[in-house]
Amino acid sequence: MPAAGETAGGCAGYCPRCGRNHFLDGVAARPAALALMQFFDDNDHVHLARPENAPDDRTKTAPLFGPERGKMFGVLLCRDVQGKTKILYGFSGMFNGHWRMPGWVGPLFDVDTFHDLVVSVERSIKQLGRRMKQEKQNGTAWGRLRTRRRDLSRQLMQRIFALYRVPDFRGGRHTLFQAFVGESGMPTGTGDCCAPKLLAHAARHRLVPVSLAEFYYGRENASATRVHKHFYPACEEKCAPILGTMLCGIGEMDAQDTTI
Ligand SMILES: [Zn+2]
Ligand SMILES: [Zn+2]
Repeated sequence: MPAAGETAGGCAGYCPRCGRNHFLDGVAARPAALALMQFFDDNDHVHLARPENAPDDRTKTAPLFGPERGKMFGVLLCRDVQGKTKILYGFSGMFNGHWRMPGWVGPLFDVDTFHDLVVSVERSIKQLGRRMKQEKQNGTAWGRLRTRRRDLSRQLMQRIFALYRVPDFRGGRHTLFQAFVGESGMPTGTGDCCAPKLLAHAARHRLVPVSLAEFYYGRENASATRVHKHFYPACEEKCAPILGTMLCGIGEMDAQDTTI
């Protein structure tokens, strides 16, 4: 359970369109988050649709307690157009090397397009590495190849970011570059946390978010800022800069619903 004084969680961000912050509650989703922790405790895997399955290489939670350490998980409480409660589940980044997992929301980009891009660019990077081995180290040709290899790696990150589609709750769609509010560059992994994945899925399926709870599960991170089963608000570095745009329009959806 959260320690006394721990923040209520949820998420917030500055919306450039409205010129103010948008917020989402972090409390109402906690019972569903606690139930998810209990599911992990009881089953040692994350296959929500098939609790009776034994843990396998794709679904097992055991690696969360090993050298790779734990991970953030999120639960988004929503209402559908009929007013029925829906619960969405998300994990940060990849789980056991997978972007997709049955019963969980996916990332903000098309996974097949992502893999095609990464595979082709990494092939080129390896080719350049092999050609460098044939040249005299620190020679002119070698230096040129090294520069090209470095540029390719840098461009890859930007090309990956360009695959992300960031919806809001007004029917708008943005790129990560458009959604990101901040002076500094976008950190690696922006858009891969639970909050953006969950909100994007809700927006695409016309679900109205009510509350978001995120918790850490597994061996604490190296700096001990993330502790097993503790709740945390959406992160400041990667999430806060895009959440203002993503949360935009939630209030309007609520207003529409109450007039029906
Ligand atoms: Zn985050
Ligand atoms: Zn707004």
